[in-house]
Amino acid sequence: MTARRNLVGLSRAELAAEMAALGEKPFRAKQLWHWIYHRGETDFAEMSTLAKDFRARLPETHVVARPDVSREQKSEDGTRKWLMRFDDAQEAETVFIPEEDRGAVCISSQVGCTLTCTFCHTGTQKLVRNLSVAEIVGQFMVARDSYGEWPTPKDGGRLLSNIVMMGMGEPLFNYDNVATALRIIMDHEGIALSKRRITLSTSGVVPEMRRCGEELGVNLAVSLHAVTDELRDVLVPINRKYPLKELMAACRDYPGANNARRITYEYVMLKGINDSAADARALAKLVKGTPAKFNLIPFNAWPGALYECSGSNAMRRFADILNDAGYSAPIRSPRGRDIMAACGQLKSASERQRRVRAATG
Ligand code: SAH
Ligand code: SF4
Repeated sequence: MTARRNLVGLSRAELAAEMAALGEKPFRAKQLWHWIYHRGETDFAEMSTLAKDFRARLPETHVVARPDVSREQKSEDGTRKWLMRFDDAQEAETVFIPEEDRGAVCISSQVGCTLTCTFCHTGTQKLVRNLSVAEIVGQFMVARDSYGEWPTPKDGGRLLSNIVMMGMGEPLFNYDNVATALRIIMDHEGIALSKRRITLSTSGVVPEMRRCGEELGVNLAVSLHAVTDELRDVLVPINRKYPLKELMAACRDYPGANNARRITYEYVMLKGINDSAADARALAKLVKGTPAKFNLIPFNAWPGALYECSGSNAMRRFADILNDAGYSAPIRSPRGRDIMAACGQLKSASERQRRVRAATG
């Protein structure tokens, strides 16, 4: 038996072509789209607006599938984390970080990452591949399943109200799949999440940044982490290819950025490395002329990490200097500490357990 094709992850045009190949009219694609992305239905038999014989035939050739969840963890602070397992047994993680009456789902774009930022655990993982469109959209759908958030609520009533492309991987190295996935998620007749509620984080893949703004119009976050090329070359090695001058020029030119839609500069707080008052002042100077806000991220340590998180006084001082220069600079609260909700950590914990199990028979 040949594998049945997953309808999740097909663009609208691809879904229409798929239906045409089955001899169906284009409105079938529109109906299916509604069931899959508005209602969250996975069982063809329940798709009551489809003709009965079509409902009966479809499961022979197609499925509406999510990634498998190999582990789900709930933190005391409400953070939830899923380890997704894909068809080839590769894994990636998805995290939901709730706030009052809303929250952001943090989505992965790759298994592992080809970049090797020295403070990031994902960068130490050997296997790397791009996630498919279905695997990216599927992460958000699993999160919605977990909270029962189907059919798609009106914008004000969503708990899973935002998406941040800040999980494992560099989204701009998997641009085409990320773009198709986000277009599916933004489509008005389905999940219908506004581009204003989506933020893509990049380590600074300069040539793809403009496209991202022009074609998708989502918010941009840039992992800056250092104010000199000398230090950024070490922390974020892609800087050797696209140094700060080019990166800041791409930020200045980012389409759609204005004072109401600022670029978020992420800055991981590393004790004694990048957290001095002089660094903070240089940082304010560096972003001058771009509509900017900051996200100060306490370093989340992992076994074998070369760095420590800055002390709370150093972080406060750093934030105050940026505030005094006129910038918003919240220190991100470390969420989900008890389930290690940082980049790459759940996956490696489960790999460790598997190795231990294998070694102890
Ligand atoms: N590859 C993209 C997006 C994924 S990483 C990027 O680098 O922007 C999302 C954010 O988490 C980035 O700002 C990254 O630098 C940060 N990060 C990675 N490992 C971290 C750690 N151990 N502690 C704190 N922040 C970390
Ligand atoms: Fe990759 Fe981002 Fe981690 Fe750097 S910080 S290794 S770009 S996931």
